Amino acid sequence: MSEREKHRTGKDDISSFAVAVIGGGLAGLSLSILLSKAGYKTILFEKEKYPFHKVCGEYISLESWKFVESLGLDISELNLPIIKKLMVSSPDGNFIKANLDLGGFGVSRYFLDNRLKELAIENGVTVCEETKVNEVIFNEEKFTVQYNRGAVVASIVAGTFGKRSNLDVKWKRDFIKQKNNKLNNFIGVKYHIKTVFPADTIALHNFKNGYCGISKVEEDQYCLCYLTTAQNLKDNGNSIKEMEKNVLYKNPFLKKIFSESEFLFQEPVTISQISFDKKSQIENHVLMLGDAAGMITPLCGNGMSIAFHAAKIGFKNIDLFLKEKISRKQMENRYANEWQKQFGKRLRNGRTIQALFGKEKLTDLFIKAIKRFPFIIKKLIKATHGNSF
Ligand SMILES: Cc1cc2nc3c(=O)[nH]c(=O)nc-3n(C[C@H](O)[C@H](O)[C@H](O)COP(=O)(O)OP(=O)(O)OC[C@H]3O[C@@H](n4cnc5c(N)ncnc54)[C@H](O)[C@@H]3O)c2cc1C
Repeated sequence: MSEREKHRTGKDDISSFAVAVIGGGLAGLSLSILLSKAGYKTILFEKEKYPFHKVCGEYISLESWKFVESLGLDISELNLPIIKKLMVSSPDGNFIKANLDLGGFGVSRYFLDNRLKELAIENGVTVCEETKVNEVIFNEEKFTVQYNRGAVVASIVAGTFGKRSNLDVKWKRDFIKQKNNKLNNFIGVKYHIKTVFPADTIALHNFKNGYCGISKVEEDQYCLCYLTTAQNLKDNGNSIKEMEKNVLYKNPFLKKIFSESEFLFQEPVTISQISFDKKSQIENHVLMLGDAAGMITPLCGNGMSIAFHAAKIGFKNIDLFLKEKISRKQMENRYANEWQKQFGKRLRNGRTIQALFGKEKLTDLFIKAIKRFPFIIKKLIKATHGNSF
């Protein structure tokens, strides 16, 4: 190996890496597994300690199945629920049912992220848990990545730090500077519950200014997860319980689920300041992947599949750069263009559909219209789902 190649691939120094990946969710873990399998010295930083719970509906579109298996996770052995049916209800309990052509499977992030972390370690990734990255500095051909206990050097940095992170604020990314609008300032709340509900169905129950999904994950548990505006919480004295009683319970399906199920967490997992505004895919030469590159509204599902798929596209371009087949500029342009081609339209569709929901009367009218013209729902499902990759 030439000195130059050693330098690029990080094999010249113990604190030098080919790629540093910031954020160990699905985008970061899958990218680091692909890189390490291809022989690149890879370090991944995750600020939390695995396993841990995350706000997420935990329904993964089947478009990801083949890719997840290619990482080395045998999902068919896990006996996970396969979800083929959709139910959508309006705030007053009007509902429709539809078949999901492609469908999905249910698995908790607690289990999945931890299993992928184990696979990353098995494949040679240096995984640093409880390690928060504070700054990334690009200096001509190399990055310095500073974290709470030290620093490393890398040829490439991937930003896989999710919806909103300290680095977004530090870098003053455009979406952070946006004033409150229809696409930002949402909160997410998640529980695991035991309940009676068909294992092959995902339900999306709407309520004023939000919607709540329920579907099965592993071990007879169900994920109950909702998105609403920060204003909704504020209007209810900043109490999640009050908001649930005053707002969510108005939908009879939600009232039944909340009153009759066994809740497995002491307190729900929550996140705030969620934004669906546009984001950039390259930020100061850092390749952004997953929610850090742009977040699809959960109503249109599939953020997890987008995170996996972006890792596949990111890997392909990083690999070409590290093999010296393309320049850094070409890698950045190719990645950003492929990302837009693959996900740009889906995210736009997600934003449009999001704007329809939450308004009680409009959601109700929408459900009534779909009942009369069922082809609309098929079109909507298709517009927000991708193909196997
Ligand atoms: C309410 C709600 C419901 C959803 N439901 C679904 C669903 O049913 N199906 C679906 O496909 N998608 C769903 N999504 C979307 C899905 O959760 C995301 O798209 C997906 O998790 C994106 O993965 P990621 O790897 O980009 O980010 P994440 O999984 O969020 O991972 C980012 C990681 O980076 C870490 N991190 C952040 N900053 C730093 C730092 N400075 N240093 C080190 N580590 C850092 C975080 O701790 C985190 O673990 C939902 C989202 C919401 C809000």
